[in-house]
Formats: sequence, C-alpha cells, structure tokens
Amino acid sequence: MKAAAFLQDRKNQIHRKGKTPFTMECNKESLAGAVSQRACVFCGSRVVLYPIADALHLVHGPIGCAVYTWDIRGALSSGPELHRLSFSTDLQEMDVIFGGEKKLYNALVELIDRHQPKAAFVYSTCIVGIIGDDMGAVCKRVGDEKGIPVLPVMSEGFKGNKREGYQAACNAMSQLVGTGDTSGISRYSINILGDFNLAGEIWLIQDYLNRIGVEVVARITGDGRINDIKRAHGAALNVVQCSGATMELANMMKERFAIPSIRVSYFGIEDMAEALYEVARFFKDPLVMEKAKLLVREEIARIMPELNRYKAELKGKKAAIYVGGAFKAFSLVKAFRLIGMNVVMVGSQTGTAEDYEELQEITDEGTIIVDDSNPLELSSFLKEKDVDIFVGGVKERPIAYKLGVAFCDHNHERKEMLAGFQGMLNFAKEVYNSVMSPVWRFVPRRREGEKS
Ligand code: SF4
Repeated sequence: MKAAAFLQDRKNQIHRKGKTPFTMECNKESLAGAVSQRACVFCGSRVVLYPIADALHLVHGPIGCAVYTWDIRGALSSGPELHRLSFSTDLQEMDVIFGGEKKLYNALVELIDRHQPKAAFVYSTCIVGIIGDDMGAVCKRVGDEKGIPVLPVMSEGFKGNKREGYQAACNAMSQLVGTGDTSGISRYSINILGDFNLAGEIWLIQDYLNRIGVEVVARITGDGRINDIKRAHGAALNVVQCSGATMELANMMKERFAIPSIRVSYFGIEDMAEALYEVARFFKDPLVMEKAKLLVREEIARIMPELNRYKAELKGKKAAIYVGGAFKAFSLVKAFRLIGMNVVMVGSQTGTAEDYEELQEITDEGTIIVDDSNPLELSSFLKEKDVDIFVGGVKERPIAYKLGVAFCDHNHERKEMLAGFQGMLNFAKEVYNSVMSPVWRFVPRRREGEKS
C-alpha cells in the first residue's frame, strides 16, 4: 500500500501507533506552506466570546475579518440575540495611514446608543496590531462615558494561532468576573465553561445538573449573559469542557477566588455519566450522588435499545476524526467504540503532549495520530485507511465529500445536539444515516492510488 503523503518537516507530528515508540511534536507554530487547518488568533477569540448574547461584538479591522467570523457558529440564545449581528469598523487605506482610533470611538458610541448592550467586546485584528491603535485607551474612554464594561480583546491575527486567541478571550472575560453581586447563590453551584451551545446542548446539561440539585451560575459562554459572568466567582466549582478554550479563565478564577475546577466532556455515555459523577463527588453529598446515578440509569435505559440497533448495522466500519481540541477526540474515540466502529485516524489542531499521549493509549494498533494537519495529509490518510466516515468541522467537510466519504459535522455548522445521553443517540443516528446513505452509490469512494 502506498504511504500517505506529508511534508518531511511534519513527520514528527504524525504517529502510527505500534510502529515505533510514541513521540509526538505538537503545540508549535504551523509549518509554512503546509496550509494548516488552524484559524487565526482573532478567530480563536471570536468563537469563545461570540455566544455571549447580550454583548456588543465589534471587530476593529478590515471588513473581511468580520465577514470571516460572522455567525460562525449556531450559538443559540434563549433570549437576546445581539451577538448574531456582526459589527466592524471597516478600516480602509486612510485609516491605516492616519490611525483608526477616532473611527473606533465613533462606532462604539453609535452602537452602544443604538443597541444598549450590557457590555462590549472590541476585537483587535492584524492591521490594528500593525498600525498600533491604542484600543485600550479608546475602550476605557467609552466605558467611562457609557457606564458599561468595554473590553479590548487583544487578538491580532498574526501573533500566534487559535490558542492565543482563546487566551485573549479569557483575559477579556476575567475583567468581568468578580464585579457582580453573588448573594443568593446555592452552596451546590457551578459554572459551565467551554460549551458554546451550538445546537442547544448547554440547556440539556443545565437540565441534568438541576435534576441532581446543582445550580448553574454562569454559562461560559454558550447562551451566555454578562451579568452571570460578573457573578461567576460566587460558584463553588468550575466545570470545564473545552479545556483549550476556557481553562485559562478557570485558572485565573482559581488564583483570584480560590475556585477549583474539573475537566469533563459531555460527549458519549461514559464521559457524560462521569461528568455528573465528578460534580456529585465534589459536593460530597450522598443525595446528589444518588440523584446522579438515578439520572444516568434512566437515561441509558431510554436510549440503549435504539443505540443497539445502529450498532448492529455499523459494526466494523471505520472512522477518522479531526477536531480543534483533543479533549473532544477522546470522547469521540469512545463513542465510536460504543457503536462498534473502529477509529483509524485521529488528530487535532491544538492538542498538547499529554493529550496525544492519552490518545495513543486509548486507540488501537495502526491508528494514525496527527497534530495540526492539512488538507493534503488528511485526504491521503482517509484514502490509505479507506474510511467510512470522517468527523470534523466546516473545513474538513469538503475533503470528505470530494473523496466520496461520509461526513459528520461535530463543530461549527451542526444543527443536531450531540452532547449528553440524547446527543449520543443523535450522533449514532447521524453516523448511520451518513454512512448508509444511498448517495455513495453515485459518488463512489476514492481509494489509495485514485485521483481525487
Ligand atoms: S489573519 Fe488577520 S486579517 Fe486574517 S482574519 Fe485573522 S485577523 Fe483578520
């Protein structure tokens, strides 16, 4: 079989389990010319802060940056929808020469007067980093004049990768935490960090938590509200899902307010159940644990008969995974195993050494593990492994379809809720429908050696 194609300088970021002892280079700048699937720093900040629905989000930069991230995710809101409007200062040549601070000031004042937001986030883009506008000073001036927090997000696109964007978003949010009233918050209370409510999952998780007697103080950031984030320091625990994106905020809250945090995942039966048990264990109350066990029993009993029907049909099929943060990949490997499928390739944009170590522990012999991949490599892995389905996000979808391979969106564009027990059932159903679709008779799968 022909080996998969990759640039020689990337070979240490690709590992085939079982061939050699495990070593993996990661967490470094993308290789020039490799056309990384990663987004820029600004985009990283935008995806984290975007779901805060009652805030104004103003992109200080050329219009293209705002368009690139406009309505980038589902990010459903149960109330206000100001986040879905994309505002930009639309910097032009003259602003680049003479500076964009005046334009930024005028835009902020006009937008705040018109929309009355609870706070405003102002995103810095590449060009703002180059011309050196003092965004902090403009934000402070407008904040003082309007009496709301106006927060600069220092996310110049070129200053790193998506990870630095997460950090910039956490820095901005940390200025809000600790400024609200915490009276009336239950002893059994948490903040949910790292779920962006793409398709309503945060409502399901909140419902589970309420059923076991735990109050959710702030949703950070899915269906997020400024006033909740301001009082998030009143919660007893931070429960962090997408650790790459929001762990930094949890660490800041631990330092400033002594709030401990746990890492969880809501994808798949095992991880969802463990997330509830972890929360229950934290509160050391047998009643909370009893309720968690009851909930897990009831939910599993409800979904298992249908899940087993999908498993019977999907047994032995092969899956490939490429996601933003590796933590989600762990859950997906387990979820595929639960429905009888084999994961033959798994990778992420921003995984750490520990993440990849864990991935190689939970995957089977021969699985390809890859860091910061690109379309050419991914196509070549899919063909070599002759996969039945590829799981990824918006940028991976065309790679799968061009090869005649089924695809499951586990990221920005999905409309189906995939978290929790119901989400596991939805996931199995979506995988089944995509793998078994008759469309593949008309778009036959391309294999190794065939042109794509
Ligand atoms: S790389 Fe720079 S110019 Fe491109 S979208 Fe990101 S911030 Fe804007």
